[in-house]
Parts: sequence; structure tokens; C-alpha cells
Amino acid sequence: MLVTSKAILEASLNGYRQGKPFAVGAYNVNNMEQMQGIIKAAKETQSPVIVQVSRGALKYAEDKYLRNIIMAAVELNPDIPIAIHLDHGNNMESVKRAIDLGFTSVMIDGSLMEDSKTPSDFEYNVRITSEVVKYAHDRGVSVEGELGTLGGIEDGVGSGQTHLTDPDQAVEFVERTGVDALAISIGTSHGAYKFKGEAKIAYDVIERCRKNLPNTYLVAHGSSSVPKELVDIINQYGGQMEHAAGVPLEALQKAIEYGINKINVDTDIRLAATAATRKFLAENPSKFDQRDYAGAAREAIAQEIMKRMNAFHTAGHIKDVPNWGLEEMKEMYKGK
Ligand SMILES: [Zn+2]
Repeated sequence: MLVTSKAILEASLNGYRQGKPFAVGAYNVNNMEQMQGIIKAAKETQSPVIVQVSRGALKYAEDKYLRNIIMAAVELNPDIPIAIHLDHGNNMESVKRAIDLGFTSVMIDGSLMEDSKTPSDFEYNVRITSEVVKYAHDRGVSVEGELGTLGGIEDGVGSGQTHLTDPDQAVEFVERTGVDALAISIGTSHGAYKFKGEAKIAYDVIERCRKNLPNTYLVAHGSSSVPKELVDIINQYGGQMEHAAGVPLEALQKAIEYGINKINVDTDIRLAATAATRKFLAENPSKFDQRDYAGAAREAIAQEIMKRMNAFHTAGHIKDVPNWGLEEMKEMYKGK
């Protein structure tokens, strides 16, 4: 079932309000095997799921291949609420392109300028985000904005500098833009090399944002856990990933208790696929059928995502998602 991300995140926020918080993972997809791995995990754990697509993914797979791969998963799984989300839109054009493709949710990252590298100022962020909200809400599409900047760089996105979100400024931002969801900077970081020492998550920032913004969905970017066992497999079979480190699942669980609703996971999918591919090829040197190693990667992705669906307590929540598709939301936004 194709729904907006607002439908899925409302279920998460309701869980928090009822003292049973759970978050929904937003998993990045670039090809068929990743999509099949994600949907297998959602099916087995009965989890609603946000599938997200970066501009890099649209370039790699070409818009329509990727859109149709995702739509195949929607068609084959009418019981699973699925939202299709644009990750890190950088301007109005990228947002329009995603909406034209049938995405039900978009992110406009106005914390950075159009080059996705240079930190912007607050007024720029408010202006571009408001424009996107107007355009998207007229079409029933949910919008995620970002305030504060994350460390790390991934898929060409990031300034490399961390500025934690100011929870008071967040109130002004949400009021002036009307975003549904807000990505906040809480010490997480994009990519596979997030921390030198231990992960330091600013739980107080989540707590204050949750208190200040009781009706806004809070999003954690850069939240792959970079499991050591996957990095070890990669290194064992010829890879070179020294000092890779992520956000432990326990830290994410704590963030969920403080009120995070959406958790972005991209790097872990890459690691699972690479570890499985390297291991398979090393152990089966005579095999050359792409289906063999791509199939192994697909299964590894499913297993890794299942772990997260259980850890984030998303499992079993498909029935809690309201049937808010684009048409329903168009009416609801109109009434506002
Ligand atoms: Zn991100």
C-alpha cells in the first residue's frame, strides 16, 4: 500500500504518545536487489517502511528504472505501508522531479546551499523549505526539512561540519515553514567513518525538540550502526576499511525513547551487500553468475534490515498506519 511518510510517521508519533515508542527506518534503495531485501525484511517483520532515494541513486539507476522497481514492491505487497521519499533534495527542481515520478514524500535540505556542501543561513533555509512545502502539500506530498548540520559526507552531501540543532530555533523553523518532519543534528554523522572514539548522541537536543514540537516528526540522519562483524568480513576478504564506526543500535533505541520517529540507514545496506559479495566470491572462486553473488547480497541486506526493524520496534506495526495517500493528504492540507 502506497502511503505518505506522514501516515507512517504519525503511527510512530502515536506510539510515543502512548508510551510505546517505535521508529521507522528509512532505507536507501539504488537497485532491485536492495529493494527486494528491504521488502523481504518488512514482510517478515510486518513493518511499515520508508524507502528513500538519493539524487545519486536516481542518477545511477535512472529515474524510471528505480521508480518502477519500487512500484513493483508496492504492487506485490498491498498489506505493507510503503512511502517513497526523496533523500536530501537540494532545490525545487529535484523536488518536482521526485513528485512527478510519484514519490509520496520529499526532503528539502535547506541547511545546505544548492551545492549540498556549503552551510546556508537560517533565512535561506526558511525560504526554500517554505516554497517546497507549498508545492508539495498542494499535491498531498509530505515534507521533511533539516535544521543544523551533520558531520560526515555521503553521496556527495554534507559540509563536514557539525552544528547541533537549536531546539528553540526549531520551533520558529517549523512554524514558519510548515514542514511535517524535521531532521535534527544530534551528533550523528553521514558515512561509514562517523566517530574517532565513542558515539556521542545529544539526547538532550532530542528531548527538547520533542517537548517544543509535540506534533512534528523528528528524524535522525547518518544513523547507520556500521556493525563491526560486517566490517570484519569485508576486511577479511580483501577489503580495506580501517576505523569504520557508527551509531550502536542501543544508542538509537535510546534516541527512540527520547522521541525520534524516523531513522535513516544507508551505509549499513552497503556494508551488508559488500561483505556478502566479497565473502561469496572468495569462497566460490569458480562462480561467475551475477545472480549468485547479487542474491547473496540481497539476503544479507534483508537480514541486516530485519535486525533494525526489530531493534527500532517497527515490527508488527503495519496495522497502525492510517490510510493517508496523496489524495487524502491533499484534502487534509487544504483544510489546514
Ligand atoms: Zn542524510
